[in-house]
Amino acid sequence: MLSNKIKLINVLFAFLVGLSAFFSTNLTLAQNQPTVTIHRYESPPIDAVNLYWIETNKGIILIDAGRFLSQARYALDEILAVNKPILGILITHPHTDHYGGLPVFVDAAIEDVPIYASEITYNDLKTDSQGFIKARNQLHGNDFPDKDTIPLPNHIVKTGDTIKLGGLTFEVIDLPENETITTTLYYLSQQNALFAGDFVVNQTIPFLGDGFSSNWLNQLRSQQLQYPEETIIYHGHGKPDRVERLIKAQIKYIETMRRLVAEALAGDREVTPSEQEQIVAQLEKQHSDYKTSLVLPNLRIGNIKGIAKELS
Ligand SMILES: [Zn+2]
Repeated sequence: MLSNKIKLINVLFAFLVGLSAFFSTNLTLAQNQPTVTIHRYESPPIDAVNLYWIETNKGIILIDAGRFLSQARYALDEILAVNKPILGILITHPHTDHYGGLPVFVDAAIEDVPIYASEITYNDLKTDSQGFIKARNQLHGNDFPDKDTIPLPNHIVKTGDTIKLGGLTFEVIDLPENETITTTLYYLSQQNALFAGDFVVNQTIPFLGDGFSSNWLNQLRSQQLQYPEETIIYHGHGKPDRVERLIKAQIKYIETMRRLVAEALAGDREVTPSEQEQIVAQLEKQHSDYKTSLVLPNLRIGNIKGIAKELS
């Protein structure tokens, strides 16, 4: 029964996503009270990113805020159409494609809307410690907010915390050093829904440039065992899917990258430009349908360098 429902959901996803990246994907979880609908807003390709807005009978909870102000306004139009208040915003990690739209949603929300994030994410938004905000300002002009106009999280969360919003209870799992300096997972156990930022992505090239692949693999293997098999992961790039399939695929991709880079490092202890090209060609052959998760000219080369540094 449940697997039929999941199949139906996947067919629905495929159909709706096929229509256009501008449409959000809606999944109503009717088996629990209150009625919960998880909407996905996927920004247009190239470099599509998901934000989710969860609708309950009491209001809307946002997971992440998208990359650009213009994209956030499209998502906001959909949210305003249901005529319910924005009750809270949960940020998964400090990459700009997940918080660039924050000013748009905060302006539209209830006064003093709670914004949740880990301490590491809060500090990065406050100080721009990785320089990402400055870089986005230079690249995208007015479509990316200035640092001083990005609302800071006003609720710091850590592993073991719970967040109660709109009749829902989110469990917090904060995992440092994986796809980014930290990823905060938000888990709705009653709804079998795990919001995971870019801890896993689907048919998308992940970011491995920070050199955390070993730690990330350990976390993936451990998280794989934590959730019932019917759990759906709502992540940052590509279609949501079952926990087991997504985590297995993410592990396989990272292991493949590490193997290819280790082979290139063997002997001369460096990955030469021609070896980089060979690895990229191999990855493109194996994953010809993979999109990029970041607006970076050479994400695959950056990933090779990140892993080479880590393995050296
Ligand atoms: Zn992302």
